[in-house]
Amino acid sequence: MTQTAPTKPLRPDDEQERFASLDPRTGEVVAHHPVHGEAEVRAAVESGRVAAAFWADLGFDGRKARLDAWRKLLVRRLAEFQALISAETGKSADDARTELALVVDHLHWAARQAPKTLGRRKVKPGMLMYNHAATLEYRPLGVVGVIGPWNYPAFTPMGSIAYALAAGNAVVFKPSEYTPGVGVFLADTFAEAVPEYPVFQVVTGFGETGAALCTSGVDKLAFTGSTSTGRKVMAACAATLTPVLVECGGKDPLIVAEDADVAAAADGAVWGGLFNAGQTCAGVERVYVADAVYDEFVRIVVEKAGKLKPGGEPGADFGPITMPRQVEVIRSHVADALERGGRAVVGGLESIRPPYVGPVVLVDVPEDSTAVTEETFGPTLVVSRVADADEAVRRANSLPYGLGATVFSRNRGEELAAGLRCGMVSVNSVLAYASVPGLPFGGVGDSGFGRIHGEDGLREFAYAHAVTRKRFAAALDPMTYDRGPRTIKHVLRLVKVLYGR
Ligand code: NDP
Repeated sequence: MTQTAPTKPLRPDDEQERFASLDPRTGEVVAHHPVHGEAEVRAAVESGRVAAAFWADLGFDGRKARLDAWRKLLVRRLAEFQALISAETGKSADDARTELALVVDHLHWAARQAPKTLGRRKVKPGMLMYNHAATLEYRPLGVVGVIGPWNYPAFTPMGSIAYALAAGNAVVFKPSEYTPGVGVFLADTFAEAVPEYPVFQVVTGFGETGAALCTSGVDKLAFTGSTSTGRKVMAACAATLTPVLVECGGKDPLIVAEDADVAAAADGAVWGGLFNAGQTCAGVERVYVADAVYDEFVRIVVEKAGKLKPGGEPGADFGPITMPRQVEVIRSHVADALERGGRAVVGGLESIRPPYVGPVVLVDVPEDSTAVTEETFGPTLVVSRVADADEAVRRANSLPYGLGATVFSRNRGEELAAGLRCGMVSVNSVLAYASVPGLPFGGVGDSGFGRIHGEDGLREFAYAHAVTRKRFAAALDPMTYDRGPRTIKHVLRLVKVLYGR
């Protein structure tokens, strides 16, 4: 593959329009970043194309060596990276550390697994094509655009970035306007491990910068964010037939069956609903509890959640609401639940003290309240009493969302999981699937489509390239005008013998 000289990575000049990323705990400026416009986004994609050729030519082993070097660098600078994530999102030090532990685990897995999943392999040609050798490999697409959210500003986009890079693509990443520094940190550390070409670049700015990336000529666009923005991204990409991966929101249920370990279920519900201030796409938002264990479950949840406090200090149970306008969404959902007969057994409207929201646990909330039907993205739980686990599954499946789910049951866990319409289920723990690099992550319905993580996540950033090679002339060859009438007759006889009975 021929290479031209690398284009310089994007560097803003002094005239560049800039915006500030703020620490949501204090309102202080963390740093200023350029607002990249359409021309700069296109330039990044163009230089990425040259870099993509270099990166693809390195092969799996060459890329793995570079990705391993990057991973080690990230681990060495973990404390600095954690502080930056905490500064831009406000999340507690431990929530940020947990996020980074998952980042490096996925990066390690993607680099190691890529040759096994994507590398050239033989495929059985089948009885009718016995005289051919068949091979299949998955090739990089070229330049992949990644648009990410702020809630897990490293882990979530890295589900696309690490897998796209391991598959041999260059990447242009547009982080959320709330967490641009995290994106820049990722790209700068990558450039230390891969200094030759701008294989992984970051463009910063607002929604318009993301929109420009959709129409910039990227070979695929991987979007993670809200369902409403996901629709816009898909519409923009349709104009140029750019393929999309869309990871959107959720309203994930947790089911507590009659035979559950109730204390473990309550612990899972409280952690799954409240960690990172509930700003987790696959966090627990709805809880359906079988009548037989409902009272005990609520008692433990109230005891545990009632002790937790949000704050800005590193050891706080969870941090602030990162995006100021989300506070009003949380307030409206809690208000809707209370106005319509719901009761707050922990906290209430008074828990909302921007930028912090304390734990809120709601019961007796009607199923058509926005607290049950829409993504709240705050430290709230809606707990509903159901007759049994089967009713819980029916109610869990009643929304257009279908991202993840949790089941607590001693004996029926996998059976109940099988009945859930969603992309991922954890049985007797919360969100475990996100920490297993080999498992694909993604949803159905309004939660989007396509997968990050796992082998599916690697194939998402590659195209299948299939080759057959004729090894010798077949006795019967129906695909030539020289075949004669007897050939088809014999082929049909063979088909009847092989597949007709
Ligand atoms: P948004 O949809 O508001 O934004 C996501 C990204 O899209 C941001 O980088 C944003 O830029 C950008 N963007 C905004 N408008 C456009 C546009 N017209 N074209 C292209 N890009 C655009 O989501 P949030 O950042 O608020 O993230 C929270 C959401 O993400 C929640 O719904 C959550 O459930 C979901 N999420 C889903 C996950 C999953 O894997 N399924 C994982 C994590 C979160 P800017 O910020 O500058 O406006």
